[in-house]
Amino acid sequence: MKTTVLYLVVPCYNEEEVLMTSAARLKDKMLRLMQAEKISQESRVMFVNDGSRDRTWKLIYDLTQQDELFAGLSFSRNFGHQSAILAGMLASRERADAVVTVDADLQQDIEALDKFIECYDNGCDIVYGIRNDRDTDGFFKKTTAGIFYKLMHLLGCRTITNHADYRLLSKKALDALAQFKEVNLFLRGLIPTMGFSSDVVYFDVKEREAGQSKYTLRKMVALAVDGITSMSTRPLQIITGVGFFTFFISLGIFISSIVDWARGRVVAGWTTIVALICLIGGMMMISQGIIGAYLGKMYLETKGRPRYIVDAMILHGAARTDGTKEPEEAVGAGESQTGREDSDGQG
Ligand code: UDP
Ligand code: MG
Repeated sequence: MKTTVLYLVVPCYNEEEVLMTSAARLKDKMLRLMQAEKISQESRVMFVNDGSRDRTWKLIYDLTQQDELFAGLSFSRNFGHQSAILAGMLASRERADAVVTVDADLQQDIEALDKFIECYDNGCDIVYGIRNDRDTDGFFKKTTAGIFYKLMHLLGCRTITNHADYRLLSKKALDALAQFKEVNLFLRGLIPTMGFSSDVVYFDVKEREAGQSKYTLRKMVALAVDGITSMSTRPLQIITGVGFFTFFISLGIFISSIVDWARGRVVAGWTTIVALICLIGGMMMISQGIIGAYLGKMYLETKGRPRYIVDAMILHGAARTDGTKEPEEAVGAGESQTGREDSDGQG
């Protein structure tokens, strides 16, 4: 009988308040799935510590010492949510048949895991988790999330509405993902471009059990900019359009002023001139800013710096396919995978 080795990848950034509760609930769920023979005993829960400043890594470390089910990976600093889930997925790739990424606060209902596995068993390589509603979100989150999806769509970055990063990828899809070397990472946009047979699973969103959202407004804006610049060049087309538009208007004004001059009319148009200078000046600055944003992203891509740097990894000896045992612990694996520039991470 075929049993799937499932790895749950859980990114954690300053999650000390919620980690132990989440770990207990994840363990309970994984054991139930194992008992029901939906997943193999070799399945694991991998916590990725994204450079937390609190006791998160200490707690993860202790969990890995108490129970083989738990694995841990720690970054040298905060690289952001997207990098954390990528690192966890790539680190699981060798051993897992399928990986599901889920937030540490377990706002995403883990009871939906059965449905994810069902889709995988039916031959899907990618399963997207889609939230049923946003009732549990506060006004701020609801509004910003709404603007986020609308803006992304408008600017040419296609995403699956109400799908965040709760998803299953098969080994095949993970191998494909590993081939994408971009530093500017927006998994929600990238993964749908890979193709493969996919399905969706609807789930209910819960309240955060403890702690606060780690997605600050700054991280959300950075994520939106990453998403747009990595998935679309529509902003560049828009500014070209605006450029043409202002050019034709200016041409009209130019012609009319020549005509005025030829008729010998002296126009006292100081206000018009100042207004136009301000308007056109402002548009030029915005356009240059947009071009600058793309240029900056290109700069980072050409440098090809690692997307994240692993400080430590603990993964208990699951037998490999060749039968050899992994070392019990590989702390200080220090291997630098690929990385990003942003010192604050980007969520
Ligand atoms: N997270 C992370 N790095 C960051 C910010 C967030 O790994 O720089 C993790 C966080 O620990 C959580 C997940 O990303 O597991 C989602 O964050 P959060 O629940 O705070 O976001 P929200 O649900 O409010 O969008
Ligand atoms: Mg959350």
